[in-house]
Parts: sequence; C-alpha cells; structure tokens
Amino acid sequence: MNLALTADEVAFRDEVRAWLDRNVEPTPEFDSFDEEFAWGRRWQARLAEDRWVGIHWPVEYGGRGATPLEVAIFNMEYARSRAPQPVNRTGVNLVGPTLLAHGDDGQRSRWLPGILRADEIWCQLFSEPGAGSDLAGLSTRATPVDDGWVLEGQKVWTSYAQHSRWGMALVRTDPDAPRHHGITCMAVDMLAPGVEVRPLVTMTGEAEFNEVFLDEVFVPGDHVIGGVHAGWSVANTTLAHERGTTFPFKEQVVHEVYLDRLLDLAAAEGSFDDPLVADQLVDAYVKLRVLRFHNWRTMTRLARGIEPGPESSLVKLAWTDMTQQLSDAALSVVGDASPLWAGADGDPQRGRWQRQWLWSKASSIAGGTSEIQRTIIGDRILGLPR
Ligand SMILES: Cc1cc2nc3c(=O)[nH]c(=O)nc-3n(C[C@H](O)[C@H](O)[C@H](O)COP(=O)(O)OP(=O)(O)OC[C@H]3O[C@@H](n4cnc5c(N)ncnc54)[C@H](O)[C@@H]3O)c2cc1C
Repeated sequence: MNLALTADEVAFRDEVRAWLDRNVEPTPEFDSFDEEFAWGRRWQARLAEDRWVGIHWPVEYGGRGATPLEVAIFNMEYARSRAPQPVNRTGVNLVGPTLLAHGDDGQRSRWLPGILRADEIWCQLFSEPGAGSDLAGLSTRATPVDDGWVLEGQKVWTSYAQHSRWGMALVRTDPDAPRHHGITCMAVDMLAPGVEVRPLVTMTGEAEFNEVFLDEVFVPGDHVIGGVHAGWSVANTTLAHERGTTFPFKEQVVHEVYLDRLLDLAAAEGSFDDPLVADQLVDAYVKLRVLRFHNWRTMTRLARGIEPGPESSLVKLAWTDMTQQLSDAALSVVGDASPLWAGADGDPQRGRWQRQWLWSKASSIAGGTSEIQRTIIGDRILGLPR
C-alpha cells in the first residue's frame, strides 16, 4: 500500500474539497424520517448534477470511472465536510453495481440515471420470513406467463421500501431445481397492482424497514436481471458489494463523521475531564484509525483487481463492533439523558445519540449476522474444522 498521493490525485482531492466547500450546508434538524428522506433526495440530486455520486461508476453511466483510491480520497473529503450520505444507498451501492455487472444495455440506460439522481429509489427484496441467513431457502414464487412472470410471496426487513419505486427481488422460478439453481433476480415495480408495503416500526420509533407482500404481481420478462435461474450468482455480486465494498468505501466515512461530531459534543460537555469517558473516546478513535488502514488495504486489493472475497466478513464484523462501540461511547458522553430516546426538553440534538444507540443493535444483524460472518472467517479464512 502506497500512501503518497500522485500529482493527479492531489488535484482530484483539491477539486473535491473545493466543490464540497461551495455546496455543503449544515444539515437541518428534522421532525420526521419522511422529512429527512425528502431533504436527502434533494441533496443527492445536487451531488448527481455535478457527478459526485456513484463516482466509481463508468463515465457513460453518470459516474467518473474513479479508481478505488480516488473513491477513498473522495470519501475522506466527504467525511471532512460532514455532508449527509446519499439517500438512495441501496440503489447506488448495491443495485447499480449489480446492473453494471449483470444487466443489459436497455436496463442500464433505463435505470442507472434515476438511481444516481435519486429520482427512483430502490430497495433490496431478498430476505423473507423463512429465509435470512439461509437466503437460498427463499420461497417467493414466480410463475411464467405470456410476456413475463407472476409473483406470489412475502419479503421482510426491506429497508426504504415505503419510499421505493423499484425493488430488486430474488424469486424462485424453478421449485424442482437444486436450491441455488432455481432462483432468478427481477426488478419489481413497487407501484404495480398486488404490491403491498407495510412499515415495521422499530424501537427507535421509526419505520426504516418494511414487510412487502406480493400478491399476483406481474413482472415483464425484460425485467429479469442476469438471466432466468441465474439469480444466485447475481445475488452474490450484490452481497459482495454490500459486505465487500460498501463497508470500506462508505461506512468508514459515516463512522468518521459520527466520531467527529461526538468529539465536538464531548468537548462541549466537558467529558474529557472524566477519565473513563476519555478512555472510551480515545479507544474508539484508535480503533477507527486501525479500521481506516485496514479499509485502505482492501481498496488497494480492489485497485489491483482482486475481488473482496471472504475477507469482507472481517470488515463487516469490525464495522459492527465499531458501530456499537461508538454508540456506547456516545451515551457515556450524553450521561444522565441517555434513557431519553426522544431527547430531553430543550435538547438541541433531539435524542440523536440515544436513537443511534438503539439502531446500533441492528448492526450485528443487517447485511449478514455476526454469527454468520464468524462462521465464514473460521471456515474460509482460518480453515477451521466444522
Ligand atoms: C436494519 C436492517 C435492515 C435490513 N435491510 C434489509 C433489506 O433492505 N433487504 C433485505 O432483503 N434484508 C434486509 N435485512 C435483513 C437481514 O439481511 C437479515 O435480518 C439477516 O440476513 C438475518 O436473517 P434473519 O433475520 O432471517 O435471521 P435468521 O437467519 O433467522 O437468524 C436468527 C439467528 O440465528 C443465527 N443463525 C442463523 N443461521 C446460523 C448458522 N448457520 N450458524 C450460527 N448462527 C446462525 C443468526 O446469526 C441469528 O442470530 C435487514 C436487516 C436489518 C436488521
């Protein structure tokens, strides 16, 4: 790993920094998740206008063809600016790369621009009540009809489905084939007749994810992504991006912004005078730096064309620990107001840290549970006996 930037990379960094300096404004406080989401869509559209979202995508599809190192530079500058993350995360980080790898030209030109501009939000319709860790056990059926397929089944834990125009679904197209061979990936129109989205309110009081019921939903044949019965390999591309690149590329930045804000709060609250809290903050700072270097190593591998592979489980696991550790440290700083998840009267932060702590519990489940990541590490990296 070479940490010195070339002249071109320095020029790129300066260009990013200058754009962010001109365009980033402080994020307002919101009264609801819906309000925050609407604001986030407008912010993403602004980024897309000047090609500052999905910069690793090819130029012809609205990206900049950025190298992994340029993406890292962009992310560092983005963290420094404290701008919020683009809201169409599933679209930009998972669906876009999957369409680039498996979609046809028509699908790419139809869907990719709307993903970048956040005109069309996407969700990931993978998990089901009976299929999460064991995703290949999914049972939503797709039956062939003239010009397409009819879907019947249920998905669950679908983030942002209530805001989505499209869902990337895994469905069973051949119930008689071995489990991994009878699955197909399709783009489902979330406004089509028969699609019902029921928000699930979590302990944060918000409904980030949903149940999605599919009752005789028609999907045109040209919405199949990557070929009929080829869904398992399409899903592997999506999951490799979810664990292998989203965490090092995006989530590192989210953590860095979070820690920056927390250190400001700690300074304002005088938390550094408490040795136990100071110790927690320093420990989090050091671990986040270590994670940054590890992520840079991952990016170097990607730059050399080496696919993320099972090491991505290490990154996911480290991300989970970091998420939970930072959230614990935040509650130590917040102190007596910790149990007030909606914030104390007059609290300008409106319970932001308390809500994040509640959310952090989900980080060991979302994107593959910690037990599953440990199994992958034991099995495929350490070669431990089963
Ligand atoms: C915040 C959040 C957002 C999400 N967003 C989406 C989304 O947008 N789209 C989507 O499709 N899904 C989404 N999910 C679902 C997520 O992918 C699943 O929850 C996850 O894969 C686990 O599946 P499950 O909930 O069915 O749990 P299960 O697989 O039933 O697991 C239950 C428990 O058993 C353990 N376990 C299961 N199998 C094993 C094993 N072989 N060895 C050891 N332990 C095991 C698990 O670790 C877990 O503790 C989201 C989840 C969360 C929390």
